[in-house]
Amino acid sequence: MSELQYPFDDHPAPGTTIEVAPGVRWLTMPMGGSLTHINLYVLEDRDGWWVVDTGLGDSTTRDWWHEIFANELMGRPVKGVICTHMHPDHIGQSKMITEEFRCPLYMTRAEYYQARTFSMGFGRHQSSWLGEEFYVRAGMPRSYLEDLAKMWSQRSSEGMSMPEMPSGYHRLEDGDVLTIGDHDWRIVVGSGHSPEHACLYCAALKLMISGDQILPIITSNVSVHPTEPNANPLKVWMESHDKFLDTPDDTFVLPAHNLPFFGIRQRLRELISHHEDRMLAVEEHCVEPAIAKDLLPVLFARELDPRQTMMALGEAIAHVHLLMHRNRIERSLHEDGHYRFTSIDPDLARRAHPDAHDAPDERPILV
Ligand SMILES: [Zn+2]
Repeated sequence: MSELQYPFDDHPAPGTTIEVAPGVRWLTMPMGGSLTHINLYVLEDRDGWWVVDTGLGDSTTRDWWHEIFANELMGRPVKGVICTHMHPDHIGQSKMITEEFRCPLYMTRAEYYQARTFSMGFGRHQSSWLGEEFYVRAGMPRSYLEDLAKMWSQRSSEGMSMPEMPSGYHRLEDGDVLTIGDHDWRIVVGSGHSPEHACLYCAALKLMISGDQILPIITSNVSVHPTEPNANPLKVWMESHDKFLDTPDDTFVLPAHNLPFFGIRQRLRELISHHEDRMLAVEEHCVEPAIAKDLLPVLFARELDPRQTMMALGEAIAHVHLLMHRNRIERSLHEDGHYRFTSIDPDLARRAHPDAHDAPDERPILV
């Protein structure tokens, strides 16, 4: 299998931009944790710029944006802000930029309303019976809810909570075309990592701005949460990968994390086979009935803190839900309040290869 190609060795320094194609400039904003940064893009129109994703809602990011406005946009205004999806590193400065330039925010409907709901701050799972039931069914002790509450209050003090959103937006839908400068950008919607994630594809420039939908190295988090305990996000994630396989192979992919790359179809095939492999490992483990918590070492190599555990449980449950949909795993609720998952496919013994799996990921990626 050929390797992915990375034409750039390094990210632009904060406050600067690099032109990656005519009228398309790449910049980064800092992030804490192992990711260290997010990639953002600005697109040149005849009378101003479009911003794609905005960074975290902290003062450092805001100050870097003012450097960009002053030095990198040739004195012209921002005309529109496009956010690929509702996670805090993508929407953090959407209100600041749209206020500063009195320009609209563009998002898909599900992403915009989910962002607005979450930014209002109430309805946290740790204070509801829904949250308690979800984590107890996954095999966690009731005290885990207290660990989560502590983690959330620390995170908001670190500027990682959901920012306030602009009070209105322009809706993006799958297949919409935005004409920016000389080029048409088509909206391609994927799902699974977030409900209605918008990517931007320009056939003339052979570019795809992929957000967190397609990343070259890290595997985006695909999780079930207490908000929708029977959701099947991995099913739509896999379907989205099939859909994106139609993208021409010479497309230059501009992701939100890691470096821009060539090799979109290879990367999609790697991700599909990675999740298939993880699901098979889960099936092999569930020959003996197992709770979700017991699946964490099957999927992740490291000891996990409370937040990583939350993300990891969400991912483990996403994998079993797709297996349940495929009739390969059965779920039953036991007297101790835990769900147990049992493999039921008679063909599993033939498919199983317990000694030939991918190595588990170190830990879930916290975006
Ligand atoms: Zn994300």
